[in-house]
Order: sequence, then structure tokens, then C-alpha cells
Amino acid sequence: MMAQRQLEIAMAAIPAVYAWWSAWRVVRARDDPTLPERLFTRMRRVAGITAAFAVALVLTGNIVLALATIVVVLAANYPVRRVVYRDEWSLFGYLGYTMACGVADMGAAALLFLGPLAALWVAGTIAPPGRARVVAALAAGVVDAVLLLAWYARATRIWLFARRASPLDAAGSRAALLSRLEAVLDRARERLPRRPALYRYGPRGGHEANAMALMSRAEPAIAISDTLLDALDTDETTAIFAHEVAHLEEHAAGDVRAERRNVLLVGAIVAVLPALELSGIVPVHPIFVVATIPFFFPAILTGGRLTPRRRETAADLRAVELTGDAEPLVRALTTLHRVQFLPQSWGADVEHRMTHPSLARRISWIRARSGAAAHAAWDALVFASPVAGTFVVLEHGRAHWFDGVPADTPLELATLRERARGRRSVAYEQLASLALTEEDGLQRSRVEHASPRGRRRRPRGRARRG
Ligand SMILES: [Zn+2]
Repeated sequence: MMAQRQLEIAMAAIPAVYAWWSAWRVVRARDDPTLPERLFTRMRRVAGITAAFAVALVLTGNIVLALATIVVVLAANYPVRRVVYRDEWSLFGYLGYTMACGVADMGAAALLFLGPLAALWVAGTIAPPGRARVVAALAAGVVDAVLLLAWYARATRIWLFARRASPLDAAGSRAALLSRLEAVLDRARERLPRRPALYRYGPRGGHEANAMALMSRAEPAIAISDTLLDALDTDETTAIFAHEVAHLEEHAAGDVRAERRNVLLVGAIVAVLPALELSGIVPVHPIFVVATIPFFFPAILTGGRLTPRRRETAADLRAVELTGDAEPLVRALTTLHRVQFLPQSWGADVEHRMTHPSLARRISWIRARSGAAAHAAWDALVFASPVAGTFVVLEHGRAHWFDGVPADTPLELATLRERARGRRSVAYEQLASLALTEEDGLQRSRVEHASPRGRRRRPRGRARRG
């Protein structure tokens, strides 16, 4: 047993050590221009490793150790946040807020996944084996199901409470904004059976840039964080708001009766599962049964908040329709990514696993489909790479990459094209992202692009970063 104990402690330590080590590396690279990419990669790895070990610990019955691991990993983000977001709250303020949000977001999932295990444990503790234990398991299962359904019904209030939300003030400085938001709601009136309530939210002293559509049939709401309200102007906030309105419209168009039926069915499964398992009718462990629920009822776990990438694109386009202008949305999304320190593009191999498309892709779609003039005409811009004979040229409509250009070549598109040994051109419509970096007064350029289908190509002879 000693070996198992040591193994469990090692399972808890690995994510914690990795989180602290990677936090230290990010803090050290605070001035690096690739900081958003580093933060993003770290966030994904820490989340993946922590989730894997926490689930393994829960399955071995070490729920307390799993929770302790999560708290230590969260604490490792604190120094990163202070450097990147200039957070001013205390460590305890940060942990309290983040854990409250975690409980609010995961509470229903915990009641669904861990509730049946808790019901079995309660029945085993209070009742002798046999019929009495089965009855106790049924009673505990019913309590779990009632809590789950109550949580589902109050999802909006729980979310708002954890994030310290309050109604968006009609008086004061937000009055002008509020009338713009109400105008968007008026335009969406026919698709919204219930007008959503509007909230601001966010912790004091902490950075949180986001907006949320709370998709409840009874209590729909839209909440915008203080950080975002401060970072965006009225047009941009209205554009983001219209995007969230589009999510509510889409949810309202869903099948109300099917949703209610699914919720009740899941409640019934949770209520009887522990008793069925004890009486031998369901021969597998309850966790395997509830683990299949998301496959059958995907909307349940997320309370309808699951937002795949195509929904995001549809919401972007509907937002443009509701506001009549694509550019404020493009500006707002760009600002949102900047203040969140998110990379503008997250790589084709990562993007298909994300809930949102990358900023680069969103902007290119918004502009392409809203008919906005995507590119103003400009003269060709020539950038020299630190690798001798390599140049990048941006012209109206296309980007070019030239290799092996002789030293005395005049830096004009026509001559570069003629004398380069290797060249690659790509039209901006085929381009999801393009990055040029300049450092230390020395012109250093990097071009990469991903095709709309998601395959990423890099021109050969790419300038090394160092
Ligand atoms: Zn969205």
C-alpha cells in the first residue's frame, strides 16, 4: 500500500511542479514578443496535465488530493497574472474568485458524475447490506437528482453570483451604452421570446476580459466584464453584445420540449443509478454510465452553453447584421485578444480543438461574408529578412516570399520576382494568418500562413528567431 500512496502523491505533484516551473519560464519571458503564444501553449498544457491527473486521482478515490492539486496549480497562475495582466488583488482574493467560478461552472457536472458515487458511499455508510442499503441508495440518488435539476434551473443566477455581477447601470456613465444595447435587443425582438437581463461582472483588482450569453429559457442574460467594458468603446461593446444576442437567438430557436425531456431523463438516470448498481441490475460502475450521458444529451452538461466554432462564426455574422457594420466587431475582437494576451492565430493543429476559431480566421470570415472592403489599396511593402537574399513583399491582394535574391537587386516587386531563385505567393483570401516581427532595430521577418482548410504551410528558408 505504501507504494500506492507514493504513486498517488507523485500524481498530485506532477501537475503542480509543471505549473510552477512553466509559470516561472513565462514570467522570465515577460518582454518577449511571443508572450501570447507562450501563455497560450502553457495554459493548454497545464490544463491538460492537471485534468488528466485530477481525473486519475478521483478514480482512485483521492478527491481531496485532486482538489488540492487544482488549488496549487491555480496558485501558480497568480504570479503570471500579476506580470501579464497587472492584477492587483491578493492571492486569496484571486483563489476565492477563481474557485467560486469553478464551483459555479462545474457544480452541475459534479452532481452528475460524482453524485452517484457519493450516493453509494452514503448508502454503504448508513445502511447494512441488502434491501435497506438499496433503499438508502435510492433515497440518496433522488436527493442528488433534485439538486442537479435545481442547479440547472438556477444556472444563470449561480453564474452571476459567483462572478459578482450586478445589473448594468442605467444611470451614470453607462446610460449611452445601454440605449445602444437596447436598440440591438429591439432588432432581435422577434427571435427572442424573452428579453435578456443585462449585467456587468468581474472581480475588483483582477483582470477578466469576456462577455457571456447565459442561455436559460426562464432567465436569459448577457453579462459583460468590467475589464472589457473599460477596454472597448461604445460601438465595439455594442458589436460584442450583438454577438452574444446571436447566441441567445440560436438557443431560443432550439427545441424547448426536447431540452426539457432530456433534462428530466438525465435526472431520472441519476436518481435510480446507485440503487440499480447495488441491486446488480446495472453491472458496471455508475461513473461509466454517467460518462456516456454527454454523448446522448450534449446540451445538458453545458446548459446549452456549448459553442462550437461554426456557431461562433454564425454569431459573428448575425452581429454584423444586427449592428449594420463589420468594423466595430473586428476592432472589438482584436482588442479582446490583445487584452487577454491571446495569440491572433493558434495554429491549425490546435484550432480544431478550440471552442472559438482564431481571431485571424474570424476577421477574414467577417470581412469576406459581410462584403466589407477587406483591403485598402497600397503600394508594395518590401521587408528584408536577416537571412541574406530573403525578402517578404506585401502588395495589394497578395503576399510574396523571395529566396536567393542577388545582393545588388533593387528592392522592387518586379525585379525581386524576376531575380529570386525561389518564390512563393499567396492571396490574402487564402491566408488565415500572417505575422511580421521586428526586433532590436534589426529587421527580422517571419511569414507564415494557413490555408482556409487548415493546413499550415511555412515558406522554406524562414528567418530563425534567436
Ligand atoms: Zn460567442
